[in-house]
Amino acid sequence: MKNPIERIITTLLAGIIIFVMLLGSVLYLVNYANQIEQKKEIEYAAFKLNNLNEIYITHLKMVRENNFYRLNKDITSEKKYNIYRNRTIVLINSYKNDIKESKDSILFKSFYQLLNNRINDLDESLQKSKLQPFYSASTQENNASNKLVYSLETNHQLLIKYWDNKSIQASADFDDKKKTNDLLFLIWLIVSVVLTILYIITFRKNINSQLEKVITERTLAITQEKEKEFSSAFANASIGMGLVNTNGKWIRVNKSLCNLLGYSELELMSLTFQEITYPDDLDADLENVKKLLNKEIESYQMEKRYITKSGEIVWILLSGSLVWENQEPKHFIAQIQNINARKILEKQLAEEKYRLKQIIDGTDAGTWEWNVQTNQIIFNEKWAQMIGYTLKDLEPTTLSTWQQFAHPDDLIISSQKLEDYFEGRSNNYECVCRLKHKSGEWVWVLSHGKVMTKTKNSQPEWVFGSHIDITSIKKLEQELEFEKQKFSTIFNSTFQFIGFLETDGTLIEADQTAINFAGLKSQDVIGKKFWDCHWWQISPQTQDELKLAIAKAATGEMVNYEVAVWDERKNPVTILFNLKPLKNLKGEVISIIPEGTIIQELVNYRKNLESKNQELEGFASVAAHDLKEPLRMINQFMGKLSQKYQNQLDETAQKYIHFAVDGSKRMNNLINDLLAYAELGGAHKNSFTNVNLNEVFEETKKLNEAVLEEKNAVLIANNLPTIWGQKTAMKLLFQNLIGNGLKYQPLYGAKPEIEINLINEDNLGYTISFKDNGIGISKENQNKVFNLFARLQNKFEYAGTGMGLATCKKIVELHHGRIWVNSDLGEGATFMVFIPKQKV
Ligand code: ADP
Repeated sequence: MKNPIERIITTLLAGIIIFVMLLGSVLYLVNYANQIEQKKEIEYAAFKLNNLNEIYITHLKMVRENNFYRLNKDITSEKKYNIYRNRTIVLINSYKNDIKESKDSILFKSFYQLLNNRINDLDESLQKSKLQPFYSASTQENNASNKLVYSLETNHQLLIKYWDNKSIQASADFDDKKKTNDLLFLIWLIVSVVLTILYIITFRKNINSQLEKVITERTLAITQEKEKEFSSAFANASIGMGLVNTNGKWIRVNKSLCNLLGYSELELMSLTFQEITYPDDLDADLENVKKLLNKEIESYQMEKRYITKSGEIVWILLSGSLVWENQEPKHFIAQIQNINARKILEKQLAEEKYRLKQIIDGTDAGTWEWNVQTNQIIFNEKWAQMIGYTLKDLEPTTLSTWQQFAHPDDLIISSQKLEDYFEGRSNNYECVCRLKHKSGEWVWVLSHGKVMTKTKNSQPEWVFGSHIDITSIKKLEQELEFEKQKFSTIFNSTFQFIGFLETDGTLIEADQTAINFAGLKSQDVIGKKFWDCHWWQISPQTQDELKLAIAKAATGEMVNYEVAVWDERKNPVTILFNLKPLKNLKGEVISIIPEGTIIQELVNYRKNLESKNQELEGFASVAAHDLKEPLRMINQFMGKLSQKYQNQLDETAQKYIHFAVDGSKRMNNLINDLLAYAELGGAHKNSFTNVNLNEVFEETKKLNEAVLEEKNAVLIANNLPTIWGQKTAMKLLFQNLIGNGLKYQPLYGAKPEIEINLINEDNLGYTISFKDNGIGISKENQNKVFNLFARLQNKFEYAGTGMGLATCKKIVELHHGRIWVNSDLGEGATFMVFIPKQKV
C-alpha cells in the first residue's frame, strides 16, 4: 500500500506536470495565434500592393490606348481605352470599398481623386481629338496633365511605400513571434520531459508494486474463479474424484467416489488408498506413484480393484496425476471410473472365449477362416496336424494351400457345395473330402462352414469353418458295410427263421428262409405286427401266446417254447421258437430277435420215443411184477425145501439151495432196481414240489440205521437246501449215493465216514457233494460208472446190480442237473450233484 506522503508528492508532481504542460500549451497557442495574425497582415499588404500595381498598370494601358487613338484615330484603341478605363474604375472602386486602415484611406482618397481626374483628363482629350481630327494639346493642358501625372505617381509611390512598410513590419513581427514560439515549445518540451522522467524515476518502484498488486489481484481472481469452477466440477463430476496426499490418505473426495465405495466422505477421508486397494493390484499402483514422484511420468492410467465398505470387489479405471508446489509434491489427483460392468463382461467374454477354445480343442477339430474376397486363409494348428504338418510348415496359408492338399475329385464337389451355399440352396457348407497326409495316405475330413461377415454389397466375405478327422469313422463305415453284407448273406442263407422285431411286436426284418417258408414276399410281412403275419394265424391262441411272449421278451426275458405255425400251404409245422431281447449299453431292450428252428422231425421222433418208452415202462413194470412172482415162489419153495428136508439134504444140497435163494434175492434186487429206474420220469414225472433235502437226508439215515451201527459208520450232512424236485427220486438218489459210500469201503477194518455238504449256491442252482472215505475210483473209470450195469468190482467182493449210479444220473437229469465224480483210487470218492434252481 502506498503511504500518504508518497501519494501527495505523486499527486503534486502530476499536478505540476499537467499545469506546466497546460501553460506551455496556452502560451504556445497564443503566440501561434499572433503569428497567424502577422502572416495575415503580410498577405494583406501583398494583396494591397498587387491591387495598386494592377490599378496603376491598367491605368498605364488606358493612357497608352488613349495616346494611340489620339495619334492614329484607331477605333480599336478607343475600344481598348474604354475597356482599360472601365477596368481601372472598377479596380479603384473595389479598392475604395475595401479600405480598412485609416492611413491607407487618407493616402488612397487623394490617389482616387487624382486617378479620377486623370481619367477625366484623358476622356476630355479623347473627345477633343475625336471632334478635332488634328487636335493637339496646349502647353497649359500639357502642364496640367504632367502635374496630375506627377501627383498621381507620387501618390502611388506613397501608397506602395506604405504597404511595403506594412509588409516588412509584419514580416519582422512574424519572425519575432516564431522565434518566441519555438523557444517556448523547446522549454515546454524540456520541462515536460524532465518532469516526466522525474516522475517516472521517483515513482517507478511504486508503479512496479502497483503493477504487481494488480497482477496478483487479477491472478487471485482468476485462481478463485478457477477454484470455484474446479470445486463445482469436482463435486458434481459423474466419475469418482479424489485428492490424495503423499502418504496415500484421501484428503478430498467427491460424492461419486463415496457412492462407488459405499463410504461416507468422512469415513473415506480417514482411509488411505492403499487400504481400499485390492492387495494384488497394490504393487502396480505404487510403482506408478513412484514414477510420478520421480517425475518419470506426468500421469498414468491403470485398471485396478477397490474393496468397497461392504467388502465387494469393484473394478475401476484410475487416472492419476501429481500436483507440484514450489518443486515439492503437493497432492495426487485421482479420477476413478467404475468399469465393473465392463470388466465382468470382459471376464465373461474371456471365459466364453476360453470355453469355446476348450470346446474346439476338446472336439479335436481343425478350424479355418477364409476371406472369400482376398483368398486369405487362417488355419489352426490342429488343421495342419491332421495332415501331418505344423502350421509353420504350411505358411503362408492361402486358398491354394487347401487346393494343394485336397483330393482333386473332392475339390469339384466342394466348390459345387460352396456354390450351393452361397446361392442359398443350402443352409450351410458341409462336405466330406480327402486331404493328402504327409505320409501319402488320404485323410477323410468332414468340413463345415458358415459365412460370418459380408461385404457392403452383400457378398460373402469371411467364412468360418471346421475340419473333423473322420478317417476312423470312414474305415468303420467300410468295415460295417462289409459286415452288413456278410451278415445279410448269412442271415438269408440260414436254415433257421430269423428276424428283428420292435419291442411293440412290429416286424422290421425277416430272413429269406422264413419268408420262403410262408411263400410270401418281404413286403407282405415287414412293418406288420408279428402276430398278424401268416405263420401265426394258425389259431387265435397261438397269436395270443406270441403277444404275451413278445411282451415278456420286451422286459428283457429270454423266451423259449415249442409252437406249431403255418407253412406255405397252411400245414402246421412245429418250430422251436426263441425270442431273444437285444439290449443297449444301458441294458434297455431295443429290439427282439425271433428265431425259429423247424423241429417237426424231432417232435415226431420224440413222440415216437415217448410212446415207445411208455410201452417199455409198461412192459418193464409188468415184466418185473411177473418176474417177481416166480422168484417169490423159488424163494418160498427153497425155504420150505431147506426147512422140511434139512436133515436129509447133504451139505452140497444145502449149498445149492443157498445159491438158489441168493440168486433169487439178487434177481429180486435187480428187478426192484430196474423197476425203480423204469418208473423214473414216468408216473412221477409231474410230481415236482419243494423238497427239503435235510428231511430227505434224515429219512435215508433212518433207513440205514442198522448198517451204520453195524459198521460203526459216521454220516453227517450240513446246510442242505430245499430244492424244486421229485421227493421220491431224491430219496432214491440219497439212498444210492449213501449206500455206495457205505458199501465201497476196504474189505477189512473199515470205518465209513460220509459227509454231505452244500458246496455252492448261485443264481443257477445248488451244488451238493457226497464225500466218502472209501476205496475210490480210478480216473479212467469215473465216466463209466454212470452207465447202466457198469460195475468195477465182482459181485463176491461187493454185491450190486450196477444200476445205482445210472439211476442217480437219470434222477439228476430229470431235474435238469448234472452228476460227476472226483476221486482217486484208494483216496475216497466225492460225488458232485448240481440241481438247477429254475422251476421245471
Ligand atoms: P452197484 O449196484 O454195483 O453198486 P452202482 O451203479 O451203484 O452199482 O455202481 C457202479 C460201480 O461204481 C460199482 O460197481 C463200483 O465199482 C463203483 N462205485 C460206486 N460207488 C462207489 C463208491 N462210493 N466208491 C467206490 N466205487 C464206487
